[in-house]
Amino acid sequence: MYKNFKNIEKVVFGRGSFSAMAEIIAEKRNENDGFFLFVVDNYFFGKELADRLPALPIDVVRFIDPDPHEPTTEQIDKLRDEIVATKGLPAGVIGIGGGTIMDIAKAISLMFTNEGSSTLYQGLNLIKKPGIYHLGVPTISGTGAEVSMTAVLTGPEKKLGLKCEWTVFNQVILDSELIATVPVDKWFYTGMDTYIHCIESQLGILNNAYSLAYAQQALSLCREVYLGEKAGRNAENDDKLMVASMMGGLSLTYSEVGICHALSYGLSKILGEKHCYANCLAFQHLEDFYGVGVVEFKEMLKKHNVQLPQNLSASWTDEQITAMAHVAYNLTHMWYHAIGTNWKEKVTIVSIKELYKRL
Ligand code: NAD
Ligand code: ZN
Repeated sequence: MYKNFKNIEKVVFGRGSFSAMAEIIAEKRNENDGFFLFVVDNYFFGKELADRLPALPIDVVRFIDPDPHEPTTEQIDKLRDEIVATKGLPAGVIGIGGGTIMDIAKAISLMFTNEGSSTLYQGLNLIKKPGIYHLGVPTISGTGAEVSMTAVLTGPEKKLGLKCEWTVFNQVILDSELIATVPVDKWFYTGMDTYIHCIESQLGILNNAYSLAYAQQALSLCREVYLGEKAGRNAENDDKLMVASMMGGLSLTYSEVGICHALSYGLSKILGEKHCYANCLAFQHLEDFYGVGVVEFKEMLKKHNVQLPQNLSASWTDEQITAMAHVAYNLTHMWYHAIGTNWKEKVTIVSIKELYKRL
């Protein structure tokens, strides 16, 4: 089985490159009903960046709160239906924000052209038609959502992405000036998502020279940002983290994530924990699987005075732990990658419950 993936069509990289957007989208303005939909992280409401949006009076600008929950199928369907009913079909969608907004922009771009609820399309290659033009501007780095071919949505039944080649952004603008305002805790958790992507990508059977090259480079950038002589928040590190996020995303696209992500999905779906934080909660307890990766992760925690809660599972019911184990178990591609072709002989609901009890 060979993976044949589509990458982002165009990428702008550079401090201040946000200002290139007006020119980039100008040539797309004649498409469909001639207006753009901007979905912007609510953090930027009333901030300077909001004044710099190249939005015309015809455009729709929506500030969306990415907290407390991750994007839902219901949220996408509702926004799509409302925009279509009031304005018609946009020329394109522009997402400005973190992984949450990236996924909203990617998902809604597809749902403008695919009928019915987005719940129908959660999975691989279920989308029937290409979406409308979509452009992503990440403002926090780590998830790799800016480059991945999935838009992760939580639906009534599952947390699963709309995954196909049309999900990938047509254009991404990587302007690392935009991530300077990210609070330290979020900078840490989201950056660690990249770190964990790379550790998991390289420690599994789907690892290959192509995915490994991206993982190694992204890991070395993460080490400079979080452990190096000039570790911490500065412009140079923001550049590096932004590139690491993209490379981490590419690494896992051509390989796969593993046990930490499987557990993390359970924590998000059942307990509502956010992706990157949930990864950190789980990863600290996976030293027997990810060895030096976990040791190094703990060094980073220490260096940046980040304290993760312990003994969380003591307050969870058996029902909750069982439900999380089922969510995790069903991510069969992750176990296959992490444990091997015979993973079903080694991994059971009971053994996954034991992993959750470590938390
Ligand atoms: P996020 O988008 O949820 O944002 C985290 C927080 O940072 C929010 O409070 C937001 O307002 C704030 N923020 C963002 N930019 C800021 C800035 N410049 N200054 C100050 N605050 C800022 O965070 P995330 O961790 O990037 O994304 C998590 C989401 O990404 C989850 O929904 C997860 O499912 C998804 N995800 C998707 C993929 C993918 O490949 N599609 C991969 C991993 C995770
Ligand atoms: Zn992740």
